[in-house]
This record gives sequence, structure tokens and C-alpha cells, in this order.
Amino acid sequence: MDKLIKCGKFFSASNQTVKNNIAVIIRKNLIIDILPLDKISNEDNYEVIDLLDGFVMPGLIDTHIHCNLNGTFESFGQSYSLSPAFYALKGLPQIQANLMAGFTSVRDMGCAGFSDVALRDAIDQGIHWGSRIFTSGLPVNTLGGAGDSNFQPPYQGGSRNHMRAVVCGVEEARQAARFNFKYGADQVKMLATSAVLGSSDEAGPQELTYEEMRAMIEVAEFNGKISAAHAIGNKGIKAAIKAGVTSIEHGSFMDEEAAEMMCEKGIYHVPTLIALERILEHIDDKSIPSYAIKKAKDCEQARIKAFQLSLKKGVKIAFGTDAATPYNKHGEQAYEFVLMVKYGMKPADAIISATKTAAELLRWDDRLGTLEIGKLADIISTRENPLEDISALGRVSFVMKDGEIYKRE
Ligand SMILES: [Zn+2]
Repeated sequence: MDKLIKCGKFFSASNQTVKNNIAVIIRKNLIIDILPLDKISNEDNYEVIDLLDGFVMPGLIDTHIHCNLNGTFESFGQSYSLSPAFYALKGLPQIQANLMAGFTSVRDMGCAGFSDVALRDAIDQGIHWGSRIFTSGLPVNTLGGAGDSNFQPPYQGGSRNHMRAVVCGVEEARQAARFNFKYGADQVKMLATSAVLGSSDEAGPQELTYEEMRAMIEVAEFNGKISAAHAIGNKGIKAAIKAGVTSIEHGSFMDEEAAEMMCEKGIYHVPTLIALERILEHIDDKSIPSYAIKKAKDCEQARIKAFQLSLKKGVKIAFGTDAATPYNKHGEQAYEFVLMVKYGMKPADAIISATKTAAELLRWDDRLGTLEIGKLADIISTRENPLEDISALGRVSFVMKDGEIYKRE
């Protein structure tokens, strides 16, 4: 039997318009019709879902999460003592928390041992339930870079293994990208610069060279796939832009010229404002290393300026949260919307960044991101109107993914 969702308020995310009293008809996992409610002649032909008190919109997409971690500081080095299978099992409830919070799709930005690929496939095949996952496989780092925290002495195996991709030079970078795609990654994720949670003193310095990044991006292009660069400092941001990356993650110290280059090349900015916000709220927590606190403080104002620069210049902003970093828990990341609006984005645009724009970044816009006939039935609802109070997105009351209901309050 087809499903009929009666929507009090309906926001397709194709544009800024809100419509009242709309019917959405769903057959299996697809939206097959959208029409005014009064055009429905006989409701008995449908399984009726009454969301007349709701604000109905597309399922949200978080384009930057890490399935392996969940809101506590864990050094990447710990990965080596546990199996990829363990990490996949550990990630499952975290992916489920994302779905229950209305994030029907997520992009994993790098994990241990292809555990994101295992989770993606188990969920797609119906073995487990959770958000739809866009995967990265192993994030690619330079030798000694932000993600290379294996300090086992070389005689005990060094830093090369199946848990992390650590490269030095163009040929190794190319191999790492090919290795990732071979084992099921949907994109190549690279660390262009050092990171707040890596053990370096500064958060900005470039780590991968332009040539190394270009080699990986070329492999992604050969495979018809996208690429993403963690990039904090301006030099690394510009090198990644020049190399043709699809999205800049964080982008904290980008300057006007970088923003203009991103506009020109259609590169996305994923600001992840919440990640540092949560660390800065807990600067007295001894479990977060002092080097991470220091670097979070260094980037505190810069990340806000970068977000506002992207807004001003018209850079495409895709919603992403880095869910998993300290105190930034899966399922609680809708606070990013509050920050985006606080720093100048219109509420409707903030929702579009997590639906239409996010789907375009992942090249999933043929099936997701807006509520239109022919798209997958990923649909959520809130009781309050998020255009009036953006924090309503933290209180999602209805979640449907692929035509199936996972939450209904
Ligand atoms: Zn991240």
C-alpha cells in the first residue's frame, strides 16, 4: 500500500518556499507524487501518516562525521591495537544515533580499516539499520602528518598498514588513492594541513604537497569520484584548491583570494563550526590534550571569519560537523545549525546547506537532497518551525529513510 504523508508545513529545499497542507505520496522507497492535500479524494487508499502539526523537509545530510569515534578524545594511535571489525561494530550505534536525529545520510571522513565501508554495505543490504553512508576508507596523511600517530618503532612494523594510509611522495599518494577505491571508498579524503587533534604544535602548516594531492585527485577523477581535503592553514587550503579538490573541510584560515578561487572552481566549504565550539566549552577537561586546546584557541575566531567570508563571497557551504570530536556527539550535531544562523546564515539557507547543497557535494542530488517526485523518500519533520527557531532541528519528531519510518513521536 502506498503511504500518504499529510504535511502541515512543507519545505522541499529546492528553494526557500514553505507550502501549507501538502500531500506526499510514497510507493516503496520513492516519492511518486506531491500535491495539495485537498486534491486527495480517498484517504482509504493509503497508509496515512499525519504530520499536520509538523514542518516537513528532506532528510538531513551531515557531510563530515567519523563513525569510529564518539565525542571523547581518542588518539589515532589506539586504532592499531583493535581490529577493523571492532571499529565497524563500535560505529553502528553511532550511525544509528545520526539517523534518529534526522540525519538520513552521512559522509564518513576517514576511519580505521575501512570500517565505514563495512557499515555502509551492512546498512544498504538491510543487515543493520542506520543512516546511508558515503565513505572515505583510510584518510591519507603524510609521513609524520596530522593522522600519522603510530609511533611504534620501525622494527615493530613502522607506520604502513591497513588501518591508516601514510604517504611520502607522489607515487605513494597515487597508490593510497587507488588502494582506497579498490576497497570500496566513495571518495579520497586527504589531510592537506596539520590538525587540531593531531599532535603538532600548530594547526595550520601544510603537510601534503600540491603534487601529492593532485595525484590523488587525478585518481578520484579517473574513478568518477570526489575528493575532500582537511585544510586549516591558508597555504594548504590554496594548494588543495589548485589541485582541484571537491571540498575544503574546516578552511579556518582561508583568505579572500582562497574564497574567490573556491567560487570560481565551484569548490564546497564544510565549516564544521561545532567541532571547536565543543572543545572550547571544555577547556578545563584534562582528557583533551593541551596541544589540542591550544590549537582550538588559535582557530577560535578564524573559523567564524572563514564561515562569514564564504557567506559573503557566495562559496557553496555544505553542512558538516566533524561529529565524533571531543564532546561533539553523534546525534547531537544539529547545534551546528544554531551556530550557522548565529554567525549570519538565514535559517532556510542553513537547512538547504544540509539537504540540497550537501546532496550536490556528494553527487547524490539525482536521488536525494530535495523533496521532489522521483527522489528517495528520506523525509523528516519537526513540531516547531525551524525557520522561526533553528534549534528545532535538534528536536526531530519524525524520521523516514527510503520510505521506512524509524522515528514517530
Ligand atoms: Zn574530521
